[in-house]
Amino acid sequence: MPMIHFEGRDYFCAEDETILESMTRHGVLIPSSCQSGACQTCMIRALQGTPSAESQKGLKATLKAQNYFLACVCKPVEDMSIGLSKVSPQFTTTVVKKELLNESVVRICLQKPSGFKYMAGQFINVQRAYDELTRSYSLASIPADDVLELHIKRIPDGKMSNWIFDELKVDDEVSFFGPAGDCFYVSGQAEHPLLLIGTGTGLAPLYGILRDVLAQEHQGTIHLFHASLTAEGLYLEQELRELAAKHAHLNYVPCVMHGDVPEGGQQGNIADIPARLIDSLSGYRVFLCGDPMIVNKLRQMSFLSGASMQDIYSDPFVFSE
Ligand SMILES: Cc1cc2nc3c(=O)[nH]c(=O)nc-3n(C[C@H](O)[C@H](O)[C@H](O)COP(=O)(O)OP(=O)(O)OC[C@H]3O[C@@H](n4cnc5c(N)ncnc54)[C@H](O)[C@@H]3O)c2cc1C
Repeated sequence: MPMIHFEGRDYFCAEDETILESMTRHGVLIPSSCQSGACQTCMIRALQGTPSAESQKGLKATLKAQNYFLACVCKPVEDMSIGLSKVSPQFTTTVVKKELLNESVVRICLQKPSGFKYMAGQFINVQRAYDELTRSYSLASIPADDVLELHIKRIPDGKMSNWIFDELKVDDEVSFFGPAGDCFYVSGQAEHPLLLIGTGTGLAPLYGILRDVLAQEHQGTIHLFHASLTAEGLYLEQELRELAAKHAHLNYVPCVMHGDVPEGGQQGNIADIPARLIDSLSGYRVFLCGDPMIVNKLRQMSFLSGASMQDIYSDPFVFSE
């Protein structure tokens, strides 16, 4: 009889019993609703042991890659250790590089702490030591890098972003929790096209995803749209142009709402621009990051243009309360 280890205790699972049924029988409450693998309310994570294929049916590839599964349809065949929440460990490290990418975006590189593992495109929660103010920042680096790269935009009156711009310096200590987020590339279907759209520092996770995808030798066409109000808000233009020159299947399109349009760029509302270059998003994997309202619009646009909901990954940069 398989044993289920949960929060320091072991529970046995009877023959033909699901993990949800076993836990409920033992008086352990796991939130659930449909009990048939549809609503995903009972999604939990296997910390040890392999969830059944049935219990991962319909989950996004990024959730499967992190061993999430549905407890209501999982009949374990081996001992498993499970966790309810995405509790992430805390790390302390130092700033090794700080440079401006444009007038309002700074690049911060942190020494990668040993034992910190992540997927390109995930984010970390940076904590200021003296008052524990915490904000999420996406990783622009890839796991093979020695540093964790962040792109941070200065927000008027923003507590954390102004502190990072004006006070944080090289050699200072920084604490963070993580990684978190499921906006990342999972290898497979290498010939399928990819669409990456970021507004402002929404480029940060996409820059990581892009480098990861190229390192994994993705074969399908990759469109990267970076949008900003004006050309001054764009950054890493030179690096991205060089990458596109090296990789024929990468199409980098800088986009602006107003003013001068960079070479090879587009002008207008970012939600309307991809349709000018791509007829249908059927078969595309889509990654959308940045301003929450625009990301929301882009999700709708992507779905209406043919992308499957399962293949749309997004990180809206929602503000803290
Ligand atoms: C998953 C995730 C990933 C993120 N990744 C990044 C990243 O890679 N780079 C990055 O720069 N930011 C990122 N953010 C946003 C970041 O976490 C902070 O919200 C941002 O830096 C502002 O924090 P602050 O303390 O400076 O401003 P606050 O003190 O929290 O806010 C000050 C005022 O500005 C408003 N405000 C906050 N953010 C914005 C904004 N973007 N635009 C307009 N008004 C705003 C607030 O409503 C408030 O009125 C991410 C957010 C999430 C949820």
